[in-house]
Amino acid sequence: MAKITLKGLRHSYKANPSKPTDYALQQLDVEWEDGGAYALLGPSGCGKTTLLNIISGLLTPSHGQILFDADDVTKLAPDQRHIAQVFQFPVVYDTMTVYDNLAFPLRNRGVAEAEVDKRVREIAEMIDLTSTLDNRASGLTADGKQKISLGRGLVRTDVNVIMFDEPLTVIDPHLKWQLRSKLKELHQRVRTTMIYVTHDQTEALTFADKVVVMNAGQVVQIGTPVELFERPEHTFVGHFIGSPGMNVLPCEVKGGKAFYDGIEVDSWNAASCKDGNGVEIGVRPEFVSFSETDAGVPVEIAKVSDAGRFQIVDTRRGDQSIKLLVPEGVAIPEKHANLAFKTDHTQVYRDGWLVRGGHSS
Ligand code: ADP
Ligand code: MG
Repeated sequence: MAKITLKGLRHSYKANPSKPTDYALQQLDVEWEDGGAYALLGPSGCGKTTLLNIISGLLTPSHGQILFDADDVTKLAPDQRHIAQVFQFPVVYDTMTVYDNLAFPLRNRGVAEAEVDKRVREIAEMIDLTSTLDNRASGLTADGKQKISLGRGLVRTDVNVIMFDEPLTVIDPHLKWQLRSKLKELHQRVRTTMIYVTHDQTEALTFADKVVVMNAGQVVQIGTPVELFERPEHTFVGHFIGSPGMNVLPCEVKGGKAFYDGIEVDSWNAASCKDGNGVEIGVRPEFVSFSETDAGVPVEIAKVSDAGRFQIVDTRRGDQSIKLLVPEGVAIPEKHANLAFKTDHTQVYRDGWLVRGGHSS
């Protein structure tokens, strides 16, 4: 097992890339600690599969290096990298039995039959395939086939990392939940580095200790679920993660103060932000409340939806929607209200990126 470092990685599928959008991956520098449970989260087309294929060696990057500990493996073939990859759609040998499918990666590497048998039965038990071990794989449902694929990813013990590419896409919701918990459990037991790719925030946040969020060929933040929630480094993270996502309001900064629609809004970082345009205020619905005084941002109430322990209140100021979460049982004004933003969770962004003290723009 090893720490995996991606250094200055870029990849284009085009022969002569010139502009940034010609690159499926733009400048990536990421370290995956040995033994971590990672999720790679981002919308369809952002470059997740491209990144996995580069780590596993199915694809050679246009620029940059992949290191396993201190060894440069950029030029190594996939089978020399000791990586297990589970693809989005099942890869199964239909003519073989379930048992032989699971045994395949081990036999292929000359593992002794006694050890093969032990591992196959262990993994089959874990993913509920024991009763079907003697059946031909061709007779299985899509769920069953994907479980075999998962099993084949999990059966080896000699891998640096196990990578799952949206492995539960074809699995029904109930089983999805079950398999996800099993993967998490397994990670806690074996502590092999795992990278779990998904576009679903719930899957990412429940599986991972650390989430790598990607958008448009870039990593926009690497953090724990709590960090992504509390301090989104990019407005994309703010609205992609959370439900509903972070409110993002256009604003103006003058003399270290942020103004939304001419109203001063306190934030923890506006003092570090230079005057100018391209600035936005971000505040999650969890940190917006009805003001008890006349201060705050005047809005109209547009819609109230019940979300269990909370009510989601959608308010409007002109065309701008601002959402807030209100605990159940708390009264909601009929028409007009003033909104208060919690200062230590209200932050300004420039060109999408969180403004930081010191070096920020
Ligand atoms: P994701 O897995 O996040 O959905 P991909 O890595 O599959 O994203 O794709 C990233 C970008 O690269 C997309 O714009 C996609 O159209 C493009 N792409 C992916 N595979 C190929 C390919 N084999 N040839 C050309 N373009 C590709
Ligand atoms: Mg993909």
